[in-house]
Amino acid sequence: MQYKLEQPVHLSTGTEKYQVTVEWRNGKFIADEPEVAGGKDTGPDPYTLLLSSLASCILVTLRMYIDRKEWTIPQIAVDTNLYAEKIGEKTVTIIDCDIRFPGTVEEEQKTRLLEIAKKCPISKILENDIKVRTFLFREGESAKKVNYANDEITVVWKPELCQHSTRCWTQLPEVFDYKKRHWINPDGASSEKIIEQVNKCPSGALSFFYNKE
Ligand code: SF4
Repeated sequence: MQYKLEQPVHLSTGTEKYQVTVEWRNGKFIADEPEVAGGKDTGPDPYTLLLSSLASCILVTLRMYIDRKEWTIPQIAVDTNLYAEKIGEKTVTIIDCDIRFPGTVEEEQKTRLLEIAKKCPISKILENDIKVRTFLFREGESAKKVNYANDEITVVWKPELCQHSTRCWTQLPEVFDYKKRHWINPDGASSEKIIEQVNKCPSGALSFFYNKE
């Protein structure tokens, strides 16, 4: 299992209602809530961000397809919005995307482009099953801990904090193998790689120290 993004998107907030700093691989921007919701509207709200993700993916996918076909379609626009509807026992979120091609585009091309738009990666994610996993990072002591050392570093595992995210053993199986009794092999990869993986543990169950410390 590898994440789609090399670095996670990092978001944080302080006490300024309700500004959130979103840090991505090449910069940062502010998200906020509208004034009616108590924010200052200094950035897009979470619904806008969700819709923007879908609409931008549709536009990029269409542009790639149009360029590949060498069609002359200079402009594409999408209006998008959402609402929730009760269908039987379930609340279903309906997302509408209205695609427009200002200018002259043949009917046959439009039909094909609609099919392509429906297949963009974010549409597929939203149409398929999604599971949201939320972990809590805990710092500090735990009664139980097990050390696994190589020449350079010692990896410390605190089983009481492990939330079984599967992240370590799916991303660095050469080192982490939950089927083994001594499940961490600190000689299975370079110390640098192990440290990188330890730092991705979402619960605080994994940590390390340099032996010379
Ligand atoms: S990454 Fe951390 S929380 Fe996830 S399984 Fe490994 S030790 Fe447990």
